[in-house]
Amino acid sequence: MSNTRAGTVSNFDTWKHAYAARAANLSVSEVRALFAVVSRPEVVSLAGGMPDVSALDGELIEQAFRSLMSNRRNYALQYGGGQGDLRLREQIQEIMALEGIQGSVENLMITTGSQHALELLADLFLDQGDAVLVEAPSYVGAVGIFRHKEAHIEHVFTDDDGISPVALAEAADRLIEQGRKVKLLYLVPNFANPSGVTLTAERRAQVLQVCRERGILIVEDNPYGLLYFDQKPPEALRAMDSEGVVYLGSFSKILSPGLRVGYVLAPPAIREKLILANESAILSPATFAQMMVSEYLSLSDWQGQIDTYRKLYASKRDAALEALAQYLPRVQTTRPQGGFFLWLTLPEGLNSKEMLPLAVDELVAYTPGTAFYGDGRGANNIRICFSHPTAENVKVGIQRLSNVVNPQLDRLVTLQAKH
Ligand code: PMP
Repeated sequence: MSNTRAGTVSNFDTWKHAYAARAANLSVSEVRALFAVVSRPEVVSLAGGMPDVSALDGELIEQAFRSLMSNRRNYALQYGGGQGDLRLREQIQEIMALEGIQGSVENLMITTGSQHALELLADLFLDQGDAVLVEAPSYVGAVGIFRHKEAHIEHVFTDDDGISPVALAEAADRLIEQGRKVKLLYLVPNFANPSGVTLTAERRAQVLQVCRERGILIVEDNPYGLLYFDQKPPEALRAMDSEGVVYLGSFSKILSPGLRVGYVLAPPAIREKLILANESAILSPATFAQMMVSEYLSLSDWQGQIDTYRKLYASKRDAALEALAQYLPRVQTTRPQGGFFLWLTLPEGLNSKEMLPLAVDELVAYTPGTAFYGDGRGANNIRICFSHPTAENVKVGIQRLSNVVNPQLDRLVTLQAKH
């Protein structure tokens, strides 16, 4: 490629010759591409995984802001340390304790949402071609980062009990035999994005063993664990192993994603490197946002707020399952016990990406399953996010979706009958 500019007219190729090779792996995510469509008020969006922040107590947030400005303004408006605010890290210890995790403030680091923690970890561990094991399907934002790092993404068989430890061992051994360095296992063990499934306690112990035996670091991403509907999920993997698991938490789903505050509890062995990586990338996480979270936690009944979210999302999950039973009885679905998502499996041969424009014509949007795979799978899957619309609109959305899916199912049945 030449080093001269093609001309004076601005076009998207002007600096193409200068991009790093890995920039080719940055493409518009299927979720991002939907945003423009989905923001039209007449469209019911079952697409983006957004919390229902209208359930927050606005008075309390204002109170936290006023208290921050009166008492700690100069601190909140200044640079902070690369590891994040100490008082907030102490408060996070209480939150993690709810999931059975004992972690010291020394091993905790604040990040700009857990997405940022994923980016730092991927940057720290992954050279081109290194293997990352992930669930099938896996979180679109993680798949995107691993792809950008030019890693080899290996999806491991996952069912209603979470990732299969047997398949995990097989995949790891196969890749190692092929000469790959298998560096990480990335997991969302509770109410996963996108499937909604939860890893059983028995499998958690087995997964830990498989990884321990092979020197594979586990990244346990847990933004939804506290948003259970009836029963708490099993103990966190990090609670069972403090050396082999990096634990990621976030305030995005239990408070607000606009604040962009997440955290990492790192094994002591990698803590220093992570802090250096954080400082190198952003100097310090946003002090203001950290302080807002910290004030909110100290002023509010934050566990009561989480209970409010849990009840709200449980009612929306119920609305989704009822509507699916009523309008899409022939479509297979997961039955999440917490979180934001459920995962539909259509018969082979149907293509959810091709169906999306038809769905948008019917004024409903969802995320096609292919977004959650790094290898092109997922064409016959749909992710439904029930957390953001009202329960009523969740039902309306699913009814509209059935106007697209059911005729396609009928057509498939007719075709099959002919053959
Ligand atoms: N991990 C998972 C599984 C998620 O669903 C999300 C958000 N959709 C994130 C990480 C990133 O969240 P945040 O950066 O807002 O903490």
